[in-house]
Amino acid sequence: MIELDGSQGEGGGQILRTSLALSVATGQPVAIEKIRAGRAKPGLMRQHLACVHAAAEISGAQVEGAELGSQSLRFVPGPVRAGEYRFTIASAGSCMLVLQTVLPPLLLASAPSQVHLRGGTHNPMAPPFHFLERAFAPLVRRMGADLQLVLRRCGFYPAGGGEVEATIVPAVNGLRPFDLVARGALLSARAECLAPGLARHVAARELEALGKAMGWSGEQLRVGTARQNEGPGNALLATLAYEHVTEVFTAFGEKTLSAEQVAHALVKELRDFQKSQGAVGPHLADQLALLLGLAAWQSGSAGTFTCSEVTGHTRTNCEVIERFLPVRYEISGAPDAATITVRPAG
Ligand code: ATP
Repeated sequence: MIELDGSQGEGGGQILRTSLALSVATGQPVAIEKIRAGRAKPGLMRQHLACVHAAAEISGAQVEGAELGSQSLRFVPGPVRAGEYRFTIASAGSCMLVLQTVLPPLLLASAPSQVHLRGGTHNPMAPPFHFLERAFAPLVRRMGADLQLVLRRCGFYPAGGGEVEATIVPAVNGLRPFDLVARGALLSARAECLAPGLARHVAARELEALGKAMGWSGEQLRVGTARQNEGPGNALLATLAYEHVTEVFTAFGEKTLSAEQVAHALVKELRDFQKSQGAVGPHLADQLALLLGLAAWQSGSAGTFTCSEVTGHTRTNCEVIERFLPVRYEISGAPDAATITVRPAG
């Protein structure tokens, strides 16, 4: 039984999700204490419980402590089973985080899987659908596996109700690591605004403020295709496609923020990324660290990437992964880019 302190490092829900994913992927039971102990509402929230149930379903796990507010969990997985699954988060919690939990083990399963997800698709503090589709999924494919994502309906806080289908096809000869040390030349930059159920001027003002600050023309700015009944909600997305990687940055509207403030929050993220030489941004970094760790384990070879920033999420994720997989992360910093290398241990 691997024993983990859920309050270590960044101390958030990601420790739980990474642990569940790798417990199922490796067949090692895990006990986690002090889950989200330092958070305002500690323990398992609905969104985290949905991840526990999903991980249990794909592996026939025995679980103790899977209750709202629980700060300890024992999880004993069986073998991962490929198949067709439906996971629903009744609240507007992010169903993309449920995918983040089940994807790694299903990528290692013996057959493809089809996963139908319902819940939030564009939530603050979670990977938005378009980020996973445009930035993350191509990197899964680069490892020799396949991940296809279809957005059937957007889901925003507080209504939720979004729908996504994920087709996950394991790599025939196991995941292969890669090196991603430079972005390469910028091929295109564009922004889209999802603002269903809101006054039309919201999207127009956000796009205008973003375009003005970034020097982007009208062709680079568009109102995204969300149907009015998919709201109310607001996500402003920027997609930067480079030769070797595509990044997606997102800012979320809130009642207390003006359209211009939402745009400027995104401009800041874009500028921080553009100033750096790192190939990937801070969010893609913590998610890629897990993928590359699995690939290093399966292939016995190292993988490397550079990122604009090493967040607490990324460091903690690497520490948790090292508890499950025989791999070691080396994080070395430069002012304008950090390098993360993962190698098979010993
Ligand atoms: P807690 O409430 O305990 O802080 P949580 O369960 O909401 O935690 P986090 O631990 O904060 O989750 O992890 C959030 C995950 O979502 C991380 O993998 C992070 O990289 C990812 N993420 C957050 N915002 C974005 C974004 N804008 N684009 C892509 N990924 C994102």
